[in-house]
Amino acid sequence: MPDRTMKILLANPRGFCAGVEMAIATVQEALQIVGPPIYVYHEIVHNRHVVERFVKRGVIFVDHVDEVPDGSTLVFSAHGVSPEVRRKARERNCTAIDATCPLVTKVHMEAIRYAKQGYHILLVGHAGHDEIVGTVGEAPEHITIVESPEQVDKLNFTQEDRLAYLTQTTLSMDDAMRIISAIRRKYPNVKEPPSEDICYATTNRQHSVRALAPLADLVLVVGSRNSSNSVRLTEISESTGTPARLVDDVSEIDHSWFEGVETVLVTAGASAPEDLVQELVDELVSRYSGEVENPAGVKEEMVFALPVTLRVLRDGGLGEKFATSPVKW
Ligand code: SF4
Repeated sequence: MPDRTMKILLANPRGFCAGVEMAIATVQEALQIVGPPIYVYHEIVHNRHVVERFVKRGVIFVDHVDEVPDGSTLVFSAHGVSPEVRRKARERNCTAIDATCPLVTKVHMEAIRYAKQGYHILLVGHAGHDEIVGTVGEAPEHITIVESPEQVDKLNFTQEDRLAYLTQTTLSMDDAMRIISAIRRKYPNVKEPPSEDICYATTNRQHSVRALAPLADLVLVVGSRNSSNSVRLTEISESTGTPARLVDDVSEIDHSWFEGVETVLVTAGASAPEDLVQELVDELVSRYSGEVENPAGVKEEMVFALPVTLRVLRDGGLGEKFATSPVKW
């Protein structure tokens, strides 16, 4: 029997956002309507378990459109793709189903608009991330990626250059603000996006960790290492002074982490399934006589409709509108 009880704080909101729900439901619907194999360009969302579960159901994930046989069904992931990828998919006569999160599409549209207006865009984000690669592809000649205030210092645009900035949707709000402040200081006339690009889900999950991490001795973030927003949650926790660990699932827990821990905060990145969180919490409850507290957080009601192409495939035309239903595994 454990000789102590541990408080388990469950962060709210946590886990799936509306974009991830929509992207996963899109692949599920495509599997039902078309049947396997379905091809998906890049990981549908950045989560190992989500990808592995779909692989078992006949989904083939590819990094290049060249890997997709002519005439196949190809889903674009939640992170979006460049026009070049769309063009290659058309060349191969693929039925393309676009599961790009509408909030990522919004950034693409802003990039296209600024480029058309003659602005050069400073894109605040992580070079190489799928979302940034897709956005840059909209106007490659008009975009420079900036990853840090130091990179802003090295930019050699003049005050006369027409500059605008945009941001990746899943950045740390604090990191983004440091870079944006550096841009504003150096280029006071820089054009700002009409609304915040860091999305509501990223913002809400970061707010809850920032508020709750100081109440805990350890933070566990359920998510994959290539999930930008999950990694940001660990960094935010550590910035409050509370150590954090990122785990894909309960099997990655090392129980030496819990020595002297009286309160643990559990959260999950926007692409992490809730059943993995529950398994992890169950393990902590049984091993440490854990008592779970579930403090209320911001209520999220955002829902994104499934891609129109699915409706066309299902009904042979634009039938009734269907929205995402809660994802079932
Ligand atoms: S984290 Fe934000 S931008 Fe990314 S899929 Fe979710 S809602 Fe969309």
